[in-house]
Amino acid sequence: MSDARDMLGCGTARGDLHRWFDGELIDEALGVHVRDCARCTAELETIEAQRDALAGLSGSPRGVDAALDSSQRAAEAALADLLAELVGCCLPAPGEKAGRRFATVRAEVTLMAARLSQLGATVAGAALPDRRPGPDEGAAFARRCVAVLISLEGPTDRTRALSERCGQQGGEA
Ligand SMILES: [Zn+2]
Repeated sequence: MSDARDMLGCGTARGDLHRWFDGELIDEALGVHVRDCARCTAELETIEAQRDALAGLSGSPRGVDAALDSSQRAAEAALADLLAELVGCCLPAPGEKAGRRFATVRAEVTLMAARLSQLGATVAGAALPDRRPGPDEGAAFARRCVAVLISLEGPTDRTRALSERCGQQGGEA
């Protein structure tokens, strides 16, 4: 089974050493030999390094999971920005340059929410208004957008400022 190429310099078969390392081969004489053999010790270190490298490729959370985590965070951040923009569409500030249309931003919100749910995250998108607010609906619609934004990023300076804007411009809704 083991030809000359599979022999270590000390005469130990490489295959035997691997099986001994894995606990598949019980060989007391080999165990005694390995303790004092630099060649076998070096080979065992190589085996260990290879196993560590394989473990790093497969089971570790540094791989696919981390990539998904970071793309979920990126999608959440993008969705949060879109929601803040949507509030602006509901409550255009007087004197402020007109932004993008409500329908455009709302469509992007839907796409981003769908992307997030593909990544396994849940977004309370159903609570968002689906049409441009009428003349008296701006503040109420904007509040619904702010509520979803808060569910995404929690209360932040941005959500506080937007909530204030809803209060100032719409009165009770
Ligand atoms: Zn040896």
